[in-house]
Amino acid sequence: MTLFNALWVEKTEEGYIQSIIERSIDDLPEGEVLIKVAYSSLNYKDALSAKGIPGVTRNYPHTPGIDAAGLVVSSTDPSFSEGDSVICIGFDLGMNTSGGFGEYVRVPGDWLTLLPNGLTLRESMILGTAGFTAALCVGKLERMRAVPEDGPVFVTGATGGVGSVAVALLAKIGFEVVAITGKSDKSDYLKSLGAASIVMREELQQENAKPLLATTYSHGIDTVGGNILSNLIKSVRYSGSVAVCGLVASPKFEATVLPFILRGINVLGIDSVTLPISEKSETWERLSSEWKLDTLDALSREIKLEQASGEIDKIFSGKIAGRTLIAHN
Ligand code: NDP
Repeated sequence: MTLFNALWVEKTEEGYIQSIIERSIDDLPEGEVLIKVAYSSLNYKDALSAKGIPGVTRNYPHTPGIDAAGLVVSSTDPSFSEGDSVICIGFDLGMNTSGGFGEYVRVPGDWLTLLPNGLTLRESMILGTAGFTAALCVGKLERMRAVPEDGPVFVTGATGGVGSVAVALLAKIGFEVVAITGKSDKSDYLKSLGAASIVMREELQQENAKPLLATTYSHGIDTVGGNILSNLIKSVRYSGSVAVCGLVASPKFEATVLPFILRGINVLGIDSVTLPISEKSETWERLSSEWKLDTLDALSREIKLEQASGEIDKIFSGKIAGRTLIAHN
């Protein structure tokens, strides 16, 4: 019987309690591919799961971790062999399927991408779901024919996981990036990732009754929703596009139809979770080649599983900047 360490979230009368326990691989769910996880990472959704906030995990006790990268131990899916390096993000991993905050996961083969040649397991998890989602946003803007010549693009929640990678990726492919942030002390960090200028988010947090605002941005990536998104949609120039992927400020935003019918702007929905595996693999391939970032170490910090609980608490106070990589032993 193989035992392994995992973060364990239990529902108790005092609330949701996290601890590190020893689990057996026999207790993992049915699945085709058993993986020894080398790295996971911390995402906003993991914090929701670890705190028992409704909408992510239905049943406890549970091991969160929507990201995992490691080596195949055994597989009944002929597409994978022992020793293959694989990435698993999204689908049900870490939601109701035991996730990457454990040293082993067992999942269906069609949740897995073979690690592309240009990435290490560690780099894939520095990116993780957050970085991957930033890439999906950039890819969708590209499909709407957004090009650097169009003018400045914004990124909200810029110091966050999705935001940091979005800033770095857009800058890498030549866009002038305006990083919108709540952290006045992170200008140097954002500039080191490639941001051309910084805007404090307070300026955008107030409700504004005007149906349209001066056109400041050509396109943008929004990770926060709420009034910030409402105001930015009114500030995008004719035919611009906004990729919308997050809800850190609010899942709601107010809009009139005017930006759409007078300026022809596009709101692009982004989902990294149920995106078919073939499309996931294409995006991983781009992240390993033309979109490979040389700022991955600058935008991440490595922790051990034992430190994950403390980091989860910091997520809701908005104190984390960049990506938090979890290295298993
Ligand atoms: P992080 O916690 O890493 O970053 C969120 C950032 O948002 C913070 O760092 C902060 O950045 C900013 N922020 C925090 N609180 C507020 C607030 N009250 N109002 C406005 N901005 C705030 O999260 P991630 O980057 O991992 O995820 C961002 C969002 O994207 C989440 O809602 C997540 O669920 C979603 N997501 C969606 C995916 C999809 O498939 N659609 C996949 C992955 C994530 P700063 O201080 O710089 O403003």
